[in-house]
Amino acid sequence: MYVNPGLSCGSCLACRRGDHINCTAYTFQGYFGFGPGSQQLFEDYPYGGFGQYLTAPAANLVKLPDSISFEQGARFGYLGTAYSALRKAQFSPGQTVLIDGATGTLGLGAVILALAMGAARIFATGRNTTLLEKLQQLDPQRIVPIALGSRPTSEIVMEATGGFGVDALIEALGPNAAVATVLDSFNALRHGGKAINIGGVADPIPLEPFPLMCLQKSYIGSLWFTTAEGQDMAVMAHAGTLNLGVFEHERFPLERVNEALDAIDQRSGGFTNVVIMH
Ligand SMILES: [Zn+2]
Repeated sequence: MYVNPGLSCGSCLACRRGDHINCTAYTFQGYFGFGPGSQQLFEDYPYGGFGQYLTAPAANLVKLPDSISFEQGARFGYLGTAYSALRKAQFSPGQTVLIDGATGTLGLGAVILALAMGAARIFATGRNTTLLEKLQQLDPQRIVPIALGSRPTSEIVMEATGGFGVDALIEALGPNAAVATVLDSFNALRHGGKAINIGGVADPIPLEPFPLMCLQKSYIGSLWFTTAEGQDMAVMAHAGTLNLGVFEHERFPLERVNEALDAIDQRSGGFTNVVIMH
């Protein structure tokens, strides 16, 4: 089983509409919450994080087939975040996507999910050229690596798409990324294209409403994913369309949790998967 740690109150207007992530008390079990009602959810479900056991609502369980390992299941949080972002972009087979920060933990998830969802071409940006080359090896035909800082991403994408632009943009850059990078990628979107932000660049982004209207572009925030989306991923992985074999696991027993946290600082981009074993 994978436990989706996203808890909702079940009784607010969003919850009654079945829209649980937009619950005013939405809370990550054992982690943090988004509203005053989160305290109650922490009291209802007090266990999480590095615990060996926990209680969770049955509706939050994703059933994993035997073909998905414990270590692979541990990646479902970030994978789901990327999958939900692609769905919010209404990403469809045959489309193109630009993934900013593609070699990171969220970005790599977005790449393998876009491949699974039938992407025609994936433009993948990153700073580390060794990791970008490794990423391209996952599907040399469909993945186009773009090293940040060489040429503007929008220029490369426009050239490669005959001036059309990409259908979707997944922003998976970290909080310290430059705003100019985000704006450059936004310029690579086609008319009517959707940019989904899951990375959380910390600085304000100056977006002009007039071109947004004329070109019908959207900039959309996306938080986590639903348990149903988690189940979709389990099915895709079992069917063989979603390749969870890309991760390099580094396993630690619970007693060595501090070493595991140090290992996270030393990781080789999104390929490394640091897991606390039970
Ligand atoms: Zn609620």
